[in-house]
Amino acid sequence: MHELSITQTIIDAVVDAAQGAAVRRITLEIGELSAILPDSIQFCFEACIPNTLLAGADLDILTVPGRGRCRNCGHEMPLEVPYGICDQCDSLAIDIIAGQGLVILSMETVPCA
Ligand SMILES: [Zn+2]
Repeated sequence: MHELSITQTIIDAVVDAAQGAAVRRITLEIGELSAILPDSIQFCFEACIPNTLLAGADLDILTVPGRGRCRNCGHEMPLEVPYGICDQCDSLAIDIIAGQGLVILSMETVPCA
């Protein structure tokens, strides 16, 4: 499953960054055009974290709306799919400028006592 390997990659990156500290919360940003389903990530996350430094951590997911810019006239528009037609000049040459990626925005670790 696509989301499972993505989740595993996120967990590995967070474990590396935490350097042995327990992780309390992670915030992810997922683009609406990324074809990654936030619900699936949440499900995989909860399935993957027991027995890791992330055990019991909360996962917050923010979704980022898709946005495109026309290569012909420079007009920017919201996109619900990763392609589109410029509503100003009917060009099909749309560059996607937002909403495609997945970013680990932040993580909170439990401070050492
Ligand atoms: Zn245009």
